[in-house]
Amino acid sequence: MSLLVVGTVALDTIETPFGKAERIIGGSATHFSLAASFFKNNIQLVSVIGEDFPTAGIKNFTDRNIDIKGLQVKKGEKSFFWAGRYHNDMNTRDTLDTQLNVLADFDPIVPEEYRNTEYLMLGNLMPKLQMKVLDQMNKRPKLVMLDTMNFWMDIAWDDVIEVLKRVDVLTVNDEEARQLSKEYSLVKAARKILTMGPQYLIIKKGENGALLFHKDELFFAPALPLEEVFDPTGAGDSFAGGFIGHLSSTDDISFANMKRAVIYGSAIASFCVEKFGIDRVVSLSNDEFKNRVSQFVSLVQFDITLS
Ligand code: AMP
Repeated sequence: MSLLVVGTVALDTIETPFGKAERIIGGSATHFSLAASFFKNNIQLVSVIGEDFPTAGIKNFTDRNIDIKGLQVKKGEKSFFWAGRYHNDMNTRDTLDTQLNVLADFDPIVPEEYRNTEYLMLGNLMPKLQMKVLDQMNKRPKLVMLDTMNFWMDIAWDDVIEVLKRVDVLTVNDEEARQLSKEYSLVKAARKILTMGPQYLIIKKGENGALLFHKDELFFAPALPLEEVFDPTGAGDSFAGGFIGHLSSTDDISFANMKRAVIYGSAIASFCVEKFGIDRVVSLSNDEFKNRVSQFVSLVQFDITLS
């Protein structure tokens, strides 16, 4: 089943305790589409870049059969730029700079042939633009997933609340779930968020794994304990790419399949953090990926007999 993503394709400057990388390729739609491309071909990408975006960077998409018909290139303009610095725990970060540039007046035009797509990922982006994409669909997709962040809750709260009413799955991290619900307990936060629109909620907790909530059901997947965590940027988007990539390739949105999707998402995210930016994911082989999924299965599988 077809899968469309809208989000940022960015230039990022990232500082971690292990070093600094300047103006490397990033963005929510970049990390998402590269991860999802391990599950299916022809992911449809809608985004915008400026003239400063390296031509070689675009090849990362085409090499993985990502369809870039919806990627607008703005002459004489600059790409979206984000800079962040990670703390020593590698789980928390400060945003040092966000320059909207081409994003400021971005009009996301969904190509006609994408408008019947069944699976839609509204990646981290201005909530008004996420709604603009939904408005262009010929029919409601089978599954709409949304990612957002504190940045948009701070500057466009009402729009975040509005777009939430139109989606099925929301992915946020623990701090964003607390900000959105005004609850500290993640269980209470989830209960509240599930009344705001989405029927499914995924709370990403970095190296502490991810929680999937739906009605009274709950599923937890740990993050694989890794020897090297080099740069966590894009882990959340890679997780989302693996999650919906699996759902769309199997065309099964049952809760049981969503649990598998959480494991696939966690597996691809575990590669993303091993190098700066997209470096690890673009060099990843299918065999390496399958091995990691098996590691996940053995990490969480156990037998127990209750008397
Ligand atoms: P993640 O680590 O999964 O939260 O994703 C990090 C990516 O999101 C980086 O590559 C950034 O370019 C991108 N990003 C950062 N801030 C924003 C924002 N406000 N809107 C959209 N994308 C963003």
